[in-house]
Amino acid sequence: MMKALTLTEYGKFEFGEAAEPEVGKCEVKIRVKACGICGSDVHGMDGSSGRRIPPIIMGHEAAGEIVEIGQQVEGWQVGDRVTFDSTVYCGECESCRSGQINLCPKRNVLGVSCDDYCRHGAFAEFVSVPQHILYAVPDSLPYEQAAFAEPVSIALHGVSRVPLKTGDSAVVIGAGLIGLLVVQALKAAGAGLVVAVDVDEDRLKMALELGADAVVVSGDGALEKIRQAVGNEDGADVAMEVVGFTPTIQLAVNCVRKGGSVGCVGNLQAEVQFPLQAVVTRELSVFGSCASAGEYGDAVKAVADGSIRVEPLMSAVADLHEGGEWFDRLHAREKGLMKVILKP
Ligand SMILES: [Zn+2]
Ligand SMILES: [Zn+2]
Repeated sequence: MMKALTLTEYGKFEFGEAAEPEVGKCEVKIRVKACGICGSDVHGMDGSSGRRIPPIIMGHEAAGEIVEIGQQVEGWQVGDRVTFDSTVYCGECESCRSGQINLCPKRNVLGVSCDDYCRHGAFAEFVSVPQHILYAVPDSLPYEQAAFAEPVSIALHGVSRVPLKTGDSAVVIGAGLIGLLVVQALKAAGAGLVVAVDVDEDRLKMALELGADAVVVSGDGALEKIRQAVGNEDGADVAMEVVGFTPTIQLAVNCVRKGGSVGCVGNLQAEVQFPLQAVVTRELSVFGSCASAGEYGDAVKAVADGSIRVEPLMSAVADLHEGGEWFDRLHAREKGLMKVILKP
């Protein structure tokens, strides 16, 4: 048996004993050292997403140490420091073979339980994962920071979806955790001026600290202010939408220049009112971006070399047994809370 934090019913956690995961032939067992609470876990805990049907051990943003190796595992050893993709993909289908592992029809996500499957995650002492989703973590990188590989990979993937040339101007709508990582990923990818937009001024302060060149408080007059900040009446080259509801999608579409691009990362709402005419007549390109497609290696590298800083985004590091309280605080949208990392 092992210790684990289990969502036993919607809104209720129990820290206690759970069965240790088995280790398949091509799997490794990992002693979890750090696991971040994701926004999708917080949305999922009350049943609103339908993706965390209890009982489930959540947690898909983790890092730890290999403690056991399956018979057919090659290239990994007990004691290796690792992080792993949150998505377990098949590796054999057409999507996987073309590198679009995030679109694998057989994929399942660690720490998710939905109508199709239930796969326990890493809010536990141990988790088992297939070797093909592992990534090495350098000795110099603390586990708490390595656990950010997942959200960082999402930001890198989002930026990789849009055509961005060195020096291009970019607007990031939404300066939550992913938005703040997108700001940094844009800079790392060679963007020129980056403008961050949010309702929350504290988050905008953080955006400036993390490399945004200008910030705009969303609301009345925001579009005009964005154009001024970009220094182009027509708008920016690229907008990244990291919220996903009608007003922010509209702002993203309206703040790019003719022929510009919009990357859609957020999807708070399943459907929004879409400014079709602006997209058609200004000939914009709109790119959806889902999870990540193998950017983990780059994510670990970016966090390790400091080109993407995650430490300022770490609000708290707590023991796993206190996890229930932290989930409640995040669910209550406590101001100023960004990423909470739990340690078994
Ligand atoms: Zn996540
Ligand atoms: Zn596949």
